[in-house]
Amino acid sequence: MFGPLISKPGSSRNNKTGSWRTETKPKLLKQNCIGCKMCLLICPEGCITGAEKNTYACDYLYCKGCGGCAAICPKADIVMIKEESKD
Ligand code: SF4
Ligand code: SF4
Repeated sequence: MFGPLISKPGSSRNNKTGSWRTETKPKLLKQNCIGCKMCLLICPEGCITGAEKNTYACDYLYCKGCGGCAAICPKADIVMIKEESKD
């Protein structure tokens, strides 16, 4: 039998997806955001929250550093930075 699995979208909120992350993490610049929600919608961990432009934030407890949010942002308002960066 398998251990606990992420069985449905959004369940990562209840089942912490572990402490690992790739070597990069997103930095939301909050400068040119237009509030389109694309980052929120694409995030497989459901860890981006926000409602108004320039308010979106990432919960690093869940982020896996996949870079999807940065790739899809139409305003380049999310950049991937090195994990050890304090920015
Ligand atoms: S890097 Fe991936 S997991 Fe992290 S916030 Fe962006 S889309 Fe979500
Ligand atoms: S994808 Fe970019 S512009 Fe759209 S809400 Fe996210 S940060 Fe803002």
